[in-house]
Amino acid sequence: MDPPTQISHLALDIGGTLVKLVYFSSNGSEEESRNGCSVVKGKLCFAKFETRKIDDCLDFIRFNILHHSGVQHQNGAVHDYLSVKATGGGAFKFADLFKEKLGILFDKEDEMHSLVGGVNFLLKTVPREAFTYLDGQKDFVNIDHNDLYPYLLVNIGSGVSMIKVDGDGKYERISGTSLGGGTFLGLGKLLTKCKSFDELLELSHHGNNRVIDMLVGDIYGGTDYSKIGLSSTAIASSFGKPISDGKELEDYQPEDVARSLLRMISNNIGQIAYLNALRFGLKRIFFGGFFIRGLEYTMDTISVAVHFWSRGEAKAMFLRHEGFLGALGAFTSYKT
Ligand code: ADP
Repeated sequence: MDPPTQISHLALDIGGTLVKLVYFSSNGSEEESRNGCSVVKGKLCFAKFETRKIDDCLDFIRFNILHHSGVQHQNGAVHDYLSVKATGGGAFKFADLFKEKLGILFDKEDEMHSLVGGVNFLLKTVPREAFTYLDGQKDFVNIDHNDLYPYLLVNIGSGVSMIKVDGDGKYERISGTSLGGGTFLGLGKLLTKCKSFDELLELSHHGNNRVIDMLVGDIYGGTDYSKIGLSSTAIASSFGKPISDGKELEDYQPEDVARSLLRMISNNIGQIAYLNALRFGLKRIFFGGFFIRGLEYTMDTISVAVHFWSRGEAKAMFLRHEGFLGALGAFTSYKT
């Protein structure tokens, strides 16, 4: 008979769009371990929920985690309070809800501290965590633990934070932009009537941004602006075509709108990231956050932006556990 599952060390990162959970299971069931990475005598398990559907997250914790964690329930009531590491804005916003509904008290961890802690933990302990992605090619990066710092962390969540990391617990938030994953999803919903992120991504797979974006060639009559190194296919103005082609939103395919939007957001973040790397002389840039979702087009666009603006000097790198950086950082803080 399998030993009983014991869940311990739950950590939450409650962001503007998604709630991320990391927890340790001594005997992860197949569902719990779908995204899990194996650790000694158990599994680190990962789950995510939309913040707007916080009740789904509460139910998941109630039935899949508290159920196995030794917290006693009687007639639906929770008798012991359970202290749980939590980070992100929702650790403040939803503290009362978790206490009231689940008997969980949040032990709050700072959001930036958790992000950095999560990335350092991954880079130091998980093999083949970081990789580059350019021209359709994914290459894992060997991380030299003695030569890890400094680096720039660009976390693309609802908004974007750019953090210069100099060591364990040594970091500074040097920049950011409000044009992030939330902008992609929010604008995308308005413009395409999509209902979800996955739907919007799926649409973007089939789109062509050149139908919406104004290209250098559109301005120069089809030729390059070679004097300053701009090819005719370079984007001169994202979403610029509707200015002159006399079309309404309904005349465009939602696929093309979604593609253009994804490209605009990814390109912009790649460029701002590079400018900040340049500002501080940083050669390595790690991109994380749930916006990336391992999507090839997104990673390719970001990589090309970094490569283009740095003339090949700086490298964009991505992380396999990109969406769980803050939650992992909060999780690892149990040790200290
Ligand atoms: P936050 O902590 O601000 O919620 P995340 O790192 O969780 O940030 O990233 C949230 C972003 O990830 C969303 O704004 C959206 O662009 C993207 N995203 C990826 N998967 C989903 C999903 N299933 N539902 C909603 N947004 C998603």
